[in-house]
Amino acid sequence: MRLPAVLLPPIVLLFLAAALSMATTPARHVVHERAQQTTELARELVLERIDAIERNGRCRQEFGKEMIDLDHVRMIVRRIRFYNAEGPEGDLRFSEVVGRPASPDSRLRDLSRGLSADAFVLGYPDNRGYIRTRNVVLSRGYFEQGDPSEGTWRLRSREEKQALLLHEALHIALDKDDDDLSQRELCPLRLLAFCPRTPAIVVAGSE
Ligand SMILES: [Zn+2]
Repeated sequence: MRLPAVLLPPIVLLFLAAALSMATTPARHVVHERAQQTTELARELVLERIDAIERNGRCRQEFGKEMIDLDHVRMIVRRIRFYNAEGPEGDLRFSEVVGRPASPDSRLRDLSRGLSADAFVLGYPDNRGYIRTRNVVLSRGYFEQGDPSEGTWRLRSREEKQALLLHEALHIALDKDDDDLSQRELCPLRLLAFCPRTPAIVVAGSE
């Protein structure tokens, strides 16, 4: 999804299929190490947000009304792999990440640059319909937001990142696209308006 001033334009889902050979990337261990770091950081962020939602009674109710089971969302988050399209793991190709052939078999970096999404779920069509994988690509817009009129960039806040990550996680956990989410008023960001961020507790002397 994209997170500019106004929230939630339509999701960009990828339609990739057919066959092409797998490509190898140089220094694969570096690529996979970095992907692991990206995944751990993103999981930590979104799990922190889910915990905050659960602690907030009104917010928890809103999610409950929408039949969103936070434990289920947590379980899904722990299975999602996150990729920084602009990092070394941006070299990975669709087929390497998803484990099935694709044509064209683009690198994550190129996919991300071809879309207007700050983050997106990798998916593909098959005869059962559209399949969402548990792989989320983080584009440059996840990390920083550009101001075209000024030509400047500012870093995304922790809260913005959490909202983006939760949005992508809900696509996977509920298996819904943006149209469905909007129709059912499941927009997680609207729900999040009820969920002020709990301030972090800093314990002096802790490591
Ligand atoms: Zn979306």
